[in-house]
Amino acid sequence: MIELDLIEFADLVKPKQIVDEITSQIPDLPIPVPLEDIAAAVGINKIEYTTLDGFEGALLADKEKTKGAILINSNSRHHRQRFSLGHELGHYMLPRHGHKMQCGIDDLITKESKNLSSKQKIELEANQFSAEILMPQKHFRSYKGYNNSPSMDCLIAQANDFDVSFEAGAQRYCRLHDEPVAVVFSLNNIVRYSCKSTEFPFWITPGKNDPVPSGSSIRKASNSPENSTYSGSALSSTWIGDDKYFLTPEDIIEEVYVMQNGYVATMLYFEDELEEKEC
Ligand SMILES: [Zn+2]
Repeated sequence: MIELDLIEFADLVKPKQIVDEITSQIPDLPIPVPLEDIAAAVGINKIEYTTLDGFEGALLADKEKTKGAILINSNSRHHRQRFSLGHELGHYMLPRHGHKMQCGIDDLITKESKNLSSKQKIELEANQFSAEILMPQKHFRSYKGYNNSPSMDCLIAQANDFDVSFEAGAQRYCRLHDEPVAVVFSLNNIVRYSCKSTEFPFWITPGKNDPVPSGSSIRKASNSPENSTYSGSALSSTWIGDDKYFLTPEDIIEEVYVMQNGYVATMLYFEDELEEKEC
C-alpha cells in the first residue's frame, strides 16, 4: 500500500512539483506507475470504470478536495483510460482546478499553443500532470538505452514498459531527450503533427495535412507489415528548413514505425553532432 504525507503538497501548484514530491516520497516507485494506488493514497476512495456518454473522465470531489471519486469511460482503449485517470487526478491535486470536472476528448488532447482560453489552460495542465505521473522524469530518463543516441526501438519499449500509448511515450521522449530528435506522426501518408526535443533547432517543413515528402523512407516503408520498423536516411532538405545558428547536415536518419491502419511515426535525428554556423 502506498502512503503519502499530504502536508508536503500544501504549497505545490505545478504538475511537475507535485509529481516530483510523489516520486520523492515513493523512492521505489514501480514502473508502470501504479496510478490507482497513488490516487487512493491522496483520498480518491472510488475509481469507477463505466460507460460515460460524451466524456472520457470525471472528478467528483468535496470542495476542499480531501476526498473524491473518479469516473473513467470504460469504452475507451486501455491507454486512454490510464491517461484519463492521470488527468482527473491532476484536477484533484492541482489547487486551482475545480473539484467537479467532466472532461471530453478535446480536453485530453489540449496541447500547448498560443491563445488558449483559461479553461483550456486548466485542461492542458491536467494533461501535463498525467504525462508527468505516468512517465516521471527521473524514471523515464534513467530507462535503459534512453541516454544513448535516439532509437525507435528504445521508444517503443519505453512506451510499452510505462504502459502508455506510443504517442504519449513519443511526446515525452522528445520533450525530455538531450539529443536533437523529432518524431513526425502521419496517417495514410499525410502529416498529422510532429514533436521535437529542445535540442532540435530546425523547423520541420511538412506541416499538418501536408503529404509526407516523396524522398522520405516512409514511402519505402509503406509495404512493411504493421507493427514493424524500417530504418533509412534522406537528404535533410526532405524534412527540415535551414536554421539561423546551426549548419544543416546533409543527411537525416529516419526510423519509421509502421503502426496499424495507416498510422506511421517517423523518428528523425542526425548521425553526427550539429555544428554551429560561423558568425
Ligand atoms: Zn479535464
